[in-house]
Amino acid sequence: MSEDSLWRAEMALPEIPQASINAREDIVVVGSGFSGLHTALHLARAGRDVVIIDAGRIGEGCSTRNGGQVSSEIHGGIERLSAQYGEDQALEILRTGVRAHQYLRCFVAEEGIECDYQICGHFIGAHRADRMAGLEEFGSLQRLIGTQAELIPADRVGEFISTEHFAGGLHLPDWASVHPGRLLAGLVKRVLKEGVRIIPHTRASQIEDHDDHISLMAGDKAVRAEQIVMGTDGYTDGASKWVQRRVVSLASFVMATELMPKTSVSALYPRASMIYDTRKNISYHRPTPDGRRVLMGTVVPLDVDNPGGSLLRARSNMLRVFPQLEEVSLEYAWSGWVGATFSRLPHVGVHGRIGYAIGYNGTGVAMTAYLGRALARKMLGHAGGETGFDHVPFQTKPFFRGQTWYRRPVLALHDVQDRLPSSKTGFG
Ligand SMILES: Cc1cc2nc3c(=O)[nH]c(=O)nc-3n(C[C@H](O)[C@H](O)[C@H](O)COP(=O)(O)OP(=O)(O)OC[C@H]3O[C@@H](n4cnc5c(N)ncnc54)[C@H](O)[C@@H]3O)c2cc1C
Repeated sequence: MSEDSLWRAEMALPEIPQASINAREDIVVVGSGFSGLHTALHLARAGRDVVIIDAGRIGEGCSTRNGGQVSSEIHGGIERLSAQYGEDQALEILRTGVRAHQYLRCFVAEEGIECDYQICGHFIGAHRADRMAGLEEFGSLQRLIGTQAELIPADRVGEFISTEHFAGGLHLPDWASVHPGRLLAGLVKRVLKEGVRIIPHTRASQIEDHDDHISLMAGDKAVRAEQIVMGTDGYTDGASKWVQRRVVSLASFVMATELMPKTSVSALYPRASMIYDTRKNISYHRPTPDGRRVLMGTVVPLDVDNPGGSLLRARSNMLRVFPQLEEVSLEYAWSGWVGATFSRLPHVGVHGRIGYAIGYNGTGVAMTAYLGRALARKMLGHAGGETGFDHVPFQTKPFFRGQTWYRRPVLALHDVQDRLPSSKTGFG
């Protein structure tokens, strides 16, 4: 079984010209995922000189590891967001998700990026009947911000997914899917065309902001730059202490089956919908763009050095939904770090000479495109860089410095909560 992602195996990156980083640079982008690439594209098109560095391969992070589910989901719910930011701001925050999806849709079409973008609809299945109340509330909120949402009773679940597992659900027909690897490869092609240099296997460290420049180590080379972009999401390390104190990494595990006959896959997903459940320890799954495999992701207590150790739980999640896959082998299994924040919202802005677009809380495929453009505009001082998140403080917590020990107890607590009666869903 491959421990690399299916998306990476299928993405066909263009040839990357050999490049080096200079002692003096205009803009250094840290991270070659969607955030870094989108931001770099807009900065380069505005005439800035941009170099992207990545500690790993190009697109090493979650941009080539995600589920490829394109939604306008924003976490928090109207009540909590209104209590914190006021009702108008709460609605503005929620509408940012819709704008982000519309933006990605136009971007992909205008740039002609072949990434299997499809408006296939998403279906959120209630893993217990009492979760339907939470889905109804989530659906009303979606309609309020202009997204179609239909509550589906138990006897119609089969229209979306062939399982006995759900007691009903919510259908969001506007939401979409993409091949994230092909989207990434398309972005790489476009930034290279704008003269952006991309240097993999070069870790940024020791980022220090000064009055008239910002300094960092890029691998073993000292660099002085005008500005830096942090596009590191769940892969954030200690390169910038300020960013590290604000981003929490959560593990997610994804697997894909062996190739199956198209008819078997379409029997499971009659409308090729993207599927989630209502658990706090959420599972999400889909047919692959070629319609030949099932791809399923789940939140797991992960042993990063041994992703295979999470396989048992992930596989039993799959068989819980599709017992008919008992005899089907898995061909790919990989893990990824989701970047979360204390506000549960993404953040975009400029702090000193550090630009950041980060903390997508698991829904970054569309949002990275939107915030990448917003960040570039903010850094350039151009109009149109405003977003619904601008007035949300990018908080840290006392003593938080990127620690990860709490993950296991939190996931264990969520497992218990998922089994108890509640109207609240883990979704939204
Ligand atoms: C398993 C999984 C499933 C997901 N599913 C979905 C989904 O279905 N839909 C959705 O909308 N979102 C999903 N997400 C979230 C989405 O993938 C991310 O929000 C998005 O890809 C973030 O892109 P990014 O460019 O900000 O970060 P990343 O793609 O993670 O890139 C960060 C990069 O920064 C580099 N880096 C970090 N530190 C340094 C350093 N010091 N020096 C140099 N480089 C550094 C890393 O090597 C990495 O390549 C999922 C995430 C995961 C992990």
